[in-house]
Amino acid sequence: MDKVTAIVLAAGRGSRMKSDIQKQFMLLGDYPVVYYSLRTFNESDVDDIILVTGEHDIEYCKQEIVGKYKISKVSKVIAGGKERYDSVRCALLAAKDSKYVIIHDGARPFVTKEMIDSSIANVKKYGACTIAVPVKDTIKIVDEDNFGIDTPDRKYVYQIQTPQSFDKELLLSCYKKLNELSETNITDDTMLVEMLSGTKTKILEGAYTNIKITTPEDIKIAKIFLKNVLT
Ligand code: C5P
Repeated sequence: MDKVTAIVLAAGRGSRMKSDIQKQFMLLGDYPVVYYSLRTFNESDVDDIILVTGEHDIEYCKQEIVGKYKISKVSKVIAGGKERYDSVRCALLAAKDSKYVIIHDGARPFVTKEMIDSSIANVKKYGACTIAVPVKDTIKIVDEDNFGIDTPDRKYVYQIQTPQSFDKELLLSCYKKLNELSETNITDDTMLVEMLSGTKTKILEGAYTNIKITTPEDIKIAKIFLKNVLT
């Protein structure tokens, strides 16, 4: 059987939230932000879930989230690293017998069962896929002095979300190459696969509600969206 592992990232410090409590653990309704995506993955067809968090938050996650809310598919709670890609690397090394990995930002509570189903089906077909939405605004590429120099055709421009799914060996091979590059501007794994392998990432339909909670305004928006999910 080709094992499918969800990797839920919750090791960020969230400096843009300007709060003492990290965004993934802030209360949204009655539960911490990260609970919502964990529950959706738990009810999906993934085989297991690796939860990545800060070294000092491992016990809290085990007891107050995984144990308390009975997220039974969590097989490991591990420490992440300094940058997002360091956290992903730690999880890939922990996902020893997985064939596919589905990487998700724990700060995105509104991932759906449909997004996960579509990710599983398409990663098996293409080796790399991501959830995304078409941009609503016109996008401008600027130069270093902030003058517009290009306007890409909007029908070809997407905002990339998570889940992002990969054949694990493909992504691991890119991480090995990354070690040699000492690149630091890696914001997600589709970017890495594009740069360091010949595999193209298939873009899958996401939702404008699949927001990443980043700044204090996002919590207000999330509270409105929350009315649409079962609690
Ligand atoms: O910082 P950013 O908003 O891009 O973080 C996206 C997700 O990656 C969040 O869920 C955050 O907790 C996670 N992350 C992580 N390890 C880091 C940085 C971010 O797991 N070092």
